[in-house]
Amino acid sequence: EVDVPESHPRYHSLLTRHRIEAGVETGITSQQGLIAQGRGEAFDYLLGEETIPSADRAARTAAAALLRADKPVLSVNGNVAALVPEETVALANAVDADIEVNLFNRTEKRIERIADHLGAHGAEEVKGLTADARIPGIDHERAKVDSDGIYSADVVVVPLEDGDRAEALGEMDKTEIVIDLNPLSRSPQVASIPIIDNVVRAIPNITEHAHDLKSRSEPGLHSIIEEFDADTALREAERTIRESDN
Ligand code: ATP
Ligand code: MG
Repeated sequence: EVDVPESHPRYHSLLTRHRIEAGVETGITSQQGLIAQGRGEAFDYLLGEETIPSADRAARTAAAALLRADKPVLSVNGNVAALVPEETVALANAVDADIEVNLFNRTEKRIERIADHLGAHGAEEVKGLTADARIPGIDHERAKVDSDGIYSADVVVVPLEDGDRAEALGEMDKTEIVIDLNPLSRSPQVASIPIIDNVVRAIPNITEHAHDLKSRSEPGLHSIIEEFDADTALREAERTIRESDN
C-alpha cells in the first residue's frame, strides 16, 4: 500500500491507479490492463469522477435485470479483480449470481491467481477454468467460456469488455450489462444496459440498488427494465463529457 494523503485532490484516482499497479505486480492484471486504466481515467476526469444521473439509472436497471434473471453471471477480468474483488463478491451474493473469470489475454495461471484472489475476498466458487464452451463468432482463445457459466447465462455483467466479445455476447441473445467509462467504445454501444461509470463506483451502486429492489414484484422489475433506453444513456454520458468544464 502506498501513502497518498487524503487531502490530495486526486486521492481516489491515485489509490485506484496503485491498486492496478499492485495487480500487475502480483500477476492478476495484465500489462494491457495498465493501458486500459489510463484510457478509463481520462474519461472519468471528464465525467467529474462521479456517477452521473443516467449512469445511476442504468445501474438501477442492471440491478432489476439481475434480480429478475434465471442465471446471472458476473464476468471478472484482471482490472476488475484488482479494483473491486470484495464488491464483486457482494454483488454476486446480493443477486445470487455466479462469478466467472474471463480474460482477453487468457492464461491458466492468471485465471487461477484471480480465482484465488476472489476466494480470499469471500467468493465461494469461481468459474472460468473449465472453458468447455465457445462464444460463436470470435477466434478460439478469446471465445473460451464455461458451458455452465457465461455460455448459458441469461444476464451477464461484463465490465471493461473488449468490443468484439461484447458484440458476440450480445448476439447470443443475452441481456448484456456493460460497465465502461467511454460511451464511444463499441462495448457499451452494443450493450442492452450500458453503465458509463467507473467500475469502482458502479459495482457497489448496482448492489445498493439490488438491496432496494429486492422486494419488488416481477412486473415492477419488468417495468424498470422497459423504461430504460440505452441510446439515451449513452447520449447523456457523451453530452456530459463534451460539456465538461474540468
Ligand atoms: P474500443 O472499444 O474503442 O475499440 P478498446 O475497448 O479496445 O477500445 P481498451 O483499452 O481495450 O480499448 O478498453 C479499455 C476500456 O475500459 C476503455 O473503454 C476504458 O474507458 C474502460 N475502463 C478502464 N478502466 C475502467 C474503470 N475503472 N471503470 C470503467 N471502465 C474502465
Ligand atoms: Mg472497448
